[in-house]
Amino acid sequence: MTELFDEGLHSGISLGLEVGDIHYQDKTEHQDLMIFDHARFGRVMSLDGAVQTTENDEFIYHEMFAHVPILAHGSAKKVLIIGGGDGGAACQVLKHSGIEVTLVDIDRTVIDLSIEYMPTVSDGAFENPKLNVIITDGCQFVKETAEKWDVIIIDSTDPHGPGEVLYTQEFYGDCKSCLTDGGIIVTQNGIPFVQADELRNSYDRLGTLFSDVSFYMATVPSYVGGALAFGWATNDTSLRKLDTHVLLERYLDAAIETDYYSPEIHQASFVLPFYVQKILTADK
Ligand code: SAM
Repeated sequence: MTELFDEGLHSGISLGLEVGDIHYQDKTEHQDLMIFDHARFGRVMSLDGAVQTTENDEFIYHEMFAHVPILAHGSAKKVLIIGGGDGGAACQVLKHSGIEVTLVDIDRTVIDLSIEYMPTVSDGAFENPKLNVIITDGCQFVKETAEKWDVIIIDSTDPHGPGEVLYTQEFYGDCKSCLTDGGIIVTQNGIPFVQADELRNSYDRLGTLFSDVSFYMATVPSYVGGALAFGWATNDTSLRKLDTHVLLERYLDAAIETDYYSPEIHQASFVLPFYVQKILTADK
C-alpha cells in the first residue's frame, strides 16, 4: 500500500499525495520539513504538513509572485523577499537585469535542502552574486533595518508557527517603513475559498497603511481549495491599472521567458470573483 502524504491544512479537507521516494523528513530548528517524490508534481516540499512548493507547478506561483509587482513598478532596483527559502521567487526576480535581491528566511535548513533536493526551483539563484541571503525572523528584520526596497515579496508559510508574525499589523507597518515611495508589497495570502479570514485580515490591516490594497489570483494545482490570492499593497494607485500595452512593452524589454505569466494574465488576475469581493466587503 503506497504511503499517502495527507495535507490537512484546512479542517475537513485532505489532499492525499501518493508518496514516492522520501528524501528528507525531520524537524528543522523551526519547522517539520519533508521532501518527497510524487508522480505528477515531481519533488514536493512540505512544512508543518502543508505543501509549500512542487517542482512541476511552482512556476505558476513564482512567476506571478515576481513579475506582477516588478513589471507593474517598472523601475525596481531593489527587491526584498521575506521567506521564500525554496528560492523560487528569487529565481524569477533575478531574471530581471539590474535588480539586487535580499532574501530573509528564518530557516537555513529550508534553503540548504531546497538547493540539494529541489535545485530546479531556485535554478542557481543562491549562487547569484545579486542575491544576499540573511537568516533571521523576517518580522525582526523589517523592524530593525534602515534599508528600503522598491518591491517587498512576503513569500511566507501560512499564518501558523513561525509564519504567523508575517500577517500582523505590526509587521505590515514595518514593511511599509522599508518601502521606497511608489513601492509595492505583495503577499502569499492563501486560498480565499477556505481561508477567507486570512484574506480579510490582511485586507483590513494593509488597508490602514496603504491607499491601494487588493489581490490578484492564480490557481496552483498543488494548493488545495481553489485559486490562491496574492495580496497587493501600494500608495501608487496607478500601478494596478496599467494598460496591457505598457505591461507588454516592459515584458518584452525584460526579455524574460515565462510559462504562466503574460501581460494579459497579469491584468486579468486582478479581476476578483464576486465571492472574493464579498469576503472583502462583508460587515465584520
Ligand atoms: N509557497 C509557499 C506557500 O504558499 O506557503 C511558501 C514557500 S516558502 C518555503 C515559505 C518560507 O517562509 C519558508 O522557507 C519558511 O522558513 C519561511 N518563514 C516562515 N516564517 C518566517 C519568518 N517569521 N521569517 C522569515 N521566514 C519565515
